[in-house]
Amino acid sequence: SRGRVAGFFRRNLFVVFTVAAVALGVVLGFALRPYDLSLREIKYFAFPGELLMRMLQMLVLPLIVSSLVTGISSLDSRASGKMGVRAVVYYMVTTLIAVFIGIVIVMIIRPGKGSREGPVANGGSIEPVQAADAFLDLIRNMFPPNLVEACFKQYKTVYKKVVLTKNVTLTLNASDSLNATEPSLILNLSRVLHTVQETVEETVPVPGSSGGVNALGLVVFSMCFGLVIGNMKQQGQALRDFFDCLNEAIMRLVAVIIWYAPVGILFLIAGKIVEMKDLAEVGGQLGMYTVSVIVGLLIHGLLVLPLLYFLVTRRNPYAFIAGLLQALITALGTSSSSATLPITFRCLEENNRVDKRVTRFVLPVGATINMDGTALYEAVAAIFIAQVNDMDLNFGQILTISITATAASIGAAGIPQAGLVTMVIVLTSVGLPTEDITLIIAVDWFLDRLRTTTNVLGDSLGAGIVEHLSRGELHSEDGDHNSVMVEN
Ligand code: ASP
Repeated sequence: SRGRVAGFFRRNLFVVFTVAAVALGVVLGFALRPYDLSLREIKYFAFPGELLMRMLQMLVLPLIVSSLVTGISSLDSRASGKMGVRAVVYYMVTTLIAVFIGIVIVMIIRPGKGSREGPVANGGSIEPVQAADAFLDLIRNMFPPNLVEACFKQYKTVYKKVVLTKNVTLTLNASDSLNATEPSLILNLSRVLHTVQETVEETVPVPGSSGGVNALGLVVFSMCFGLVIGNMKQQGQALRDFFDCLNEAIMRLVAVIIWYAPVGILFLIAGKIVEMKDLAEVGGQLGMYTVSVIVGLLIHGLLVLPLLYFLVTRRNPYAFIAGLLQALITALGTSSSSATLPITFRCLEENNRVDKRVTRFVLPVGATINMDGTALYEAVAAIFIAQVNDMDLNFGQILTISITATAASIGAAGIPQAGLVTMVIVLTSVGLPTEDITLIIAVDWFLDRLRTTTNVLGDSLGAGIVEHLSRGELHSEDGDHNSVMVEN
């Protein structure tokens, strides 16, 4: 049996390294805390972690585009259509379940009850976002007017109340009994400044979206592009080969970066632990809020999703999750599901042997729109803020929160703390003060890591489920010359 243990370690070398890196990072982080390092010193120290983050992000863009184009163009359109519908149904169902769990937990624990501890809200000049605005923005971002720009920016539309000054000219006629020898008076009268409030529409970059990509836009484009060149028969062969080759090359780069990943994760985690505020400050309401989110995420990630996987595939979900360990830890370390994407690909394809035609298709889409953890957290946070404000939500408002939390999770980019930004949509849809987001900022970096891990888990189990449901189509395509499979 010692041989078997040794064999296990050899096969799971990276997993062992990664787990060790987390443990070491935690120890190192706590060991350095007493030294009271300045922010600059902490950043110097955490630099190897920052590098990992940058390397992974660097690969995301070509990875999303090449895997989607190859994935879709190598399937016939009926097969990819069916697979797409299954994936989207899975994403919708699991996101709604996540929101539901979040709502139930936060209603039971009631972390926000009692008098408010945080700052009081004050007014803002930007008009409340209507659910419809959020929805339209989501669709707008699916069709970026500029593909190159979509590689690094995402926009949203806001409606602003602005005060405009207008010149109104009064005409004076002869009957006006004004003393014409006072020209200044006439001048004043003829140019009465008239102020009006008007609403203007403005397109602004989503805060924090730089460094990320408008993945949604690229996903939509790549899917359509893949469909088209898949149908182009012989004429499209050159493009299919190109993207297939690009995809293979990127995955080889991933295989190199993976050697560095444990080092990066160690410093990402240690750096964050040195930097974080004293845990003692997180007491009372905020502490209970944190507990609510964690309980919700655990129930969803470790019970509900595995159960769903088991019901569909009749296979052991925890064995599947064990194969994902490295991706889950990377998600924890980077708090970005899109930066984790390269590792998720590797775990699913290498460890869990999920068909590449499935992973290439569903993973980029999942990492972009399927965020169970984020949806759950948005719902919990909104209801927590309502509780803090002593606001009783009626059924309609809770329904609105469920819908907007889902939209906010779809719209959130897979980058650190994107969910905090899209939180605005949920709060304004039920008239809660957006300033109250400040109440939850202190613990967000931590919850972000946990919800990102849940997001990646949801995407990965989804790939397993879709593969199982699509085995008919995959099997019938196996002999097809059109399915370009790279086996190595
Ligand atoms: N950081 C999360 C992710 O990348 C998004 C969020 O902020 O909820 O999946």
